[in-house]
Amino acid sequence: MPLSLHNTLTRKKEVFAPIDAKKVRMYVCGPTVYDFAHIGNARPVIVFDVLYRLLRHVYGEAHVRYVRNITDVDDKINAAAKANGENIRDLTERTAKEFHADTKALLCLEPDVEPRATEHIAEMIAMIERLIASGHAYEAEKHVLFSVQADKDYGKLSHRNRDEMIAGARVEVAPYKRDAADFVLWKPSPDDLPGWDSPWGRGRPGWHIECSAMSEKHLGPSFDIHGGGLDLIFPHHENEIAQSECAHGGAPFARYWLHNGFLMVEGAKMSKSEGNFRTIRDVLGEAPGEAARFAMLMGHYRDPLDWTSERLMQAIYGLDRFYMALRGIDAAPAAIPVRVLEALDDDLNTPLAIARLYELLGELNTANTTADKARWAGELRAGGLLLGLLQQDSEAWLQGETIDPNEISDAVVKRLEERDWIDEQIRLRLAARQTKNFAEADRIRTDLALKGIILEDGPKGTTWRRAG
Ligand code: AMP
Ligand code: ZN
Repeated sequence: MPLSLHNTLTRKKEVFAPIDAKKVRMYVCGPTVYDFAHIGNARPVIVFDVLYRLLRHVYGEAHVRYVRNITDVDDKINAAAKANGENIRDLTERTAKEFHADTKALLCLEPDVEPRATEHIAEMIAMIERLIASGHAYEAEKHVLFSVQADKDYGKLSHRNRDEMIAGARVEVAPYKRDAADFVLWKPSPDDLPGWDSPWGRGRPGWHIECSAMSEKHLGPSFDIHGGGLDLIFPHHENEIAQSECAHGGAPFARYWLHNGFLMVEGAKMSKSEGNFRTIRDVLGEAPGEAARFAMLMGHYRDPLDWTSERLMQAIYGLDRFYMALRGIDAAPAAIPVRVLEALDDDLNTPLAIARLYELLGELNTANTTADKARWAGELRAGGLLLGLLQQDSEAWLQGETIDPNEISDAVVKRLEERDWIDEQIRLRLAARQTKNFAEADRIRTDLALKGIILEDGPKGTTWRRAG
């Protein structure tokens, strides 16, 4: 079955055919780095990581190029730095680092290129100059604006009419604009804000031009897939198309536009005032990164997803079952099972792919011979690989040691300290038994059980796991 993807541009599911199968290219809008990323931001990161893995499987690792930018110049950044009393550069560096720790904990592969907006100012200025020269942009009072009327295709992604666009964009109706729908490519910066010299004076870029310039630099004028959350369709992606296609003499920009649905928390739109705002870091304090990833992929990427503690528990419980079944089995090397591949080929149907992993789990649990067990365990591991799941050592999962201790939150540090404490309890219990103090040994075992830690005595000594 060929890979099919839902394309926002045509509003249809289409068979995916890359421009050049030796160079499959994908751009995804990355974070604006002013604060910890929230669990909604994790959704595109995880969803497009699965697509990246799938493309690498289909076309070969050397033939896929994934670019995800970092927006490190933005008014929200300026405002946050001011509120924190922090240097802007320190804030963006610190936040980008935290974002990387989060994506690593969520078991995402790194993109091939992660361009930063502030390192592409010259390319943005060059693109703006081309837009002015071709009559698609104009300078007014130290601003440069894109002229929406000069682009007959404007609105083709969001399928909106002009009034809806003006209302949706909530653009400032500044007196220097020729048309209320025109948007900023460049704006002046006062001395106390980041700014760069340009033909229009010291200033900084608008948000949309950043992605047009960075995608052009790293993927060329036309490429295959452009992704991001649903909220970016308008105005951000509509404006990226307008800028890029007008700067490239009408050459088509991205061919397939993919958008993930929104994530809510406990049934409500996530917001600080609702009290249901959750950073990725908060979630990693509640559960291992693999469980958060699993919970995210339990929903189809285009559907809304309700992030609840029940969903997270279900993911932890599911992974417990998988890793318990894989425990102590030397998995035979296996190709990715067709049933898992087919599910993902159908517009990244991750809930179906997970259902197929459960089928493989059933096979593994009912297998009678060592050879059969090794075979099903191998298929399960290989099927998990495309989803970025089930790649850990079973014991590591069952003990909850899942993240690099150098890059984690206090809550996870506590978990690791707890692990040392458990090891110490096991040693004390052994010592008690050796001196025939069975009452003390039993007390230690019960004490651990009350904390959800189960001890198992085996030929190689005592191991432990969390109660499932
Ligand atoms: P931002 O840093 O706000 O530009 O967002 C980064 C990415 O996260 C974009 O692709 C957004 O569409 C996406 N995003 C933001 N909030 C949510 C949410 N609640 N659910 C799903 N995706 C989101
Ligand atoms: Zn973008």
